[in-house]
Amino acid sequence: MAEKGSDLIYEVCCVFCKDDNVNWEATVYCKQCSKGLCDECVKYHKKLYKTHSTLRREDKKMWPVVDTT
Ligand SMILES: [Zn+2]
Ligand SMILES: [Zn+2]
Repeated sequence: MAEKGSDLIYEVCCVFCKDDNVNWEATVYCKQCSKGLCDECVKYHKKLYKTHSTLRREDKKMWPVVDTT
């Protein structure tokens, strides 16, 4: 139940990195994709999908539950 200090456990992983078998924490969530993205991948994502709106980690409480598969 203790949630603070659990930064080592990635609740949401970057799906693009996951495709490359890299376990990297998602720092941004895309509402249109319904996926988490890391800082690196979100740069590419923003270029590819300019109209997508993302939620920053500061707004994590607004992130919906992410499908981790
Ligand atoms: Zn990534
Ligand atoms: Zn997106």
